[in-house]
Amino acid sequence: MKPIKKKKCKGIGIAKGNGCGELTYKRTYGLCQKCNRIWATETDVGMIWLKKQTAYKMKRNEKEEKKQNRSEHNKMKIDVMSADKYRSIYVQPLINKIADLLIMEILVLLLATLKVKWQVGIIHPLGQTGQYV
Ligand SMILES: [Zn+2]
Repeated sequence: MKPIKKKKCKGIGIAKGNGCGELTYKRTYGLCQKCNRIWATETDVGMIWLKKQTAYKMKRNEKEEKKQNRSEHNKMKIDVMSADKYRSIYVQPLINKIADLLIMEILVLLLATLKVKWQVGIIHPLGQTGQYV
């Protein structure tokens, strides 16, 4: 990177004719910051420039804010969507499977219990006659 040289404060372009002549690093229209502030608040051209700058900056800030809001909104939407998607892809089938397994297990248990009860003679299946044996 090139070393920044100090330059004389001397107005250029719309700020021509202004400047204190002191050496400065940062210049706007050839003016040091002090002279730029004076030029922007005390001359007609400077005031118009400042107004434009302020309006531009406000507009840019507004734009950036909107952009940020939008991206946050989108991010939230994606989060919500992915949570829902995650649920439908991974959680729901698992719940279904667990439910199936539970039902199967309950049925097996029930059948086993009935079988045992049949065997020990607590419950007798209806016989051919339609009466308890
Ligand atoms: Zn100056």
